[in-house]
Amino acid sequence: MELNQLTAHELLEKLKSKEICSRTILLSLSQRIEKTDPKVKAYVRNQGPVKFAPQDEAFGELNGLPVTIKDNICTSGLNTECCSKILRGFRPPYDATVIDKLKKAGAQIFPLKANMDEFAFGSSTENSFFGPTANPWKLDCVPGGSSGGSAAAVASDEAIWALGSDTGGSIRQPASFCGVVGLKPTYGRVSRYGLIAFASSLDQIGPLTKDVEDSALLCGLISGYDPQDSTSINQSVPDYTKSLTGDIKGLKIGIPKEYFVEGLDPEVKSVIEEAIDKLKSLGAVIKQVSLPHTEYAVPVYYIIATAEASSNLARFDGVQYGYRAQADNLLQMYKETRAEGFGQEAKRRILLGTFALSHGYYDAYYLRALKVRSLIKQDFDRVFQEFDCIVAPTSPTAAFKIGERTEDPLKMYLSDIYTISVNLAGIPAISVPCGFTKQGLPVGLQIMAKPFDEEMLFKTAYAYEQNTDWHKIKPKL
Ligand code: GLN
Repeated sequence: MELNQLTAHELLEKLKSKEICSRTILLSLSQRIEKTDPKVKAYVRNQGPVKFAPQDEAFGELNGLPVTIKDNICTSGLNTECCSKILRGFRPPYDATVIDKLKKAGAQIFPLKANMDEFAFGSSTENSFFGPTANPWKLDCVPGGSSGGSAAAVASDEAIWALGSDTGGSIRQPASFCGVVGLKPTYGRVSRYGLIAFASSLDQIGPLTKDVEDSALLCGLISGYDPQDSTSINQSVPDYTKSLTGDIKGLKIGIPKEYFVEGLDPEVKSVIEEAIDKLKSLGAVIKQVSLPHTEYAVPVYYIIATAEASSNLARFDGVQYGYRAQADNLLQMYKETRAEGFGQEAKRRILLGTFALSHGYYDAYYLRALKVRSLIKQDFDRVFQEFDCIVAPTSPTAAFKIGERTEDPLKMYLSDIYTISVNLAGIPAISVPCGFTKQGLPVGLQIMAKPFDEEMLFKTAYAYEQNTDWHKIKPKL
């Protein structure tokens, strides 16, 4: 096996024993990228000539291990453009808190950023200014989105592990489509400082990894209170690797009946049912539960998320960051910068969000959506009074073809029907590989837990992973 194919925990052992140094890992990654990235296009080439400058001194827990970062997380001195023209050339003068934490732990920030849908608006990575990323399992399919670059890089061994962001499914859905592990932590668990905001009440940074152990490791490294993010919660961070016991005997798992309805691809359904049987055979107690407000999750999300996005995107006016259009006067400059700088989906969301917040419509849309959001949260609270976790599909289908849903935004929005409620409720969830369709496309199993019970996710996911081999199967590239 080449170094780039190993997991982070495997590499960390080798680094610790000085069998290898971080320089050799970077070399192995750059060779792989040279060979496969022209096909996968997981990375954006917005940095100018790439300097692979491995740090010589290995220090900290990570000893120079590289981490791949999504293009919406601020990395000082490295372009951070959210894959949007409007942020062209933006080099943040500071690091996001997660980057700061990783550097302090001895990580190297990989010098290329991972592709994504512009401002994380999308489910397929087709909305990137730099063009789409391909699914490593089938190059004419999408990798999912919006963290499609991070997921595809990990799946194709062009990255050891990566960070993405999840507002409505953007870590879990691409993890599911690419056959890797993706975690959305509890809202408030990981600082959002330096994550370029999409919808501030929903966004959360999280890991995309080759296995559950790496997910637990990376989650531990980035979690914790941050005074720079007023929504981060002051609660101690457990050692997540301690929950990797493999024992789930007697665990109470709820299966939400609303997730197994029309629209769920029959092949995906049978793969998920097999995974549930596996959990049962490991000693878990499985029972059907109900999350009655599930059907409102997509409309509620698209009101709240677009409302917040329209406000967050107001700062991009050509004055402070990135791209500026040439114009005769200030007003014209604002208008032209935004007209030329934002892509179609960003404009659609600004319009939708501005409408939902406008005088006369605010009560009917935004306020009502907030009320239904509370009901969605209460559904989960009720189930978690009795159950340890909830298990469901991550996505109703496996990866779809590039171009298949771009003309129909509603169809695209429905790709997130199983992931969105988790963000609205603020709870944590993980997607783990659980099988393949007949066409050879990966399927992801989603596990959800109570707020701040990431340990339950790792415990359940690890037990499943230890008893299956799905995560070891690699795409042929
Ligand atoms: N696909 C969803 C959207 O387009 C979620 C995106 C995300 O989680 N960033 O809004």
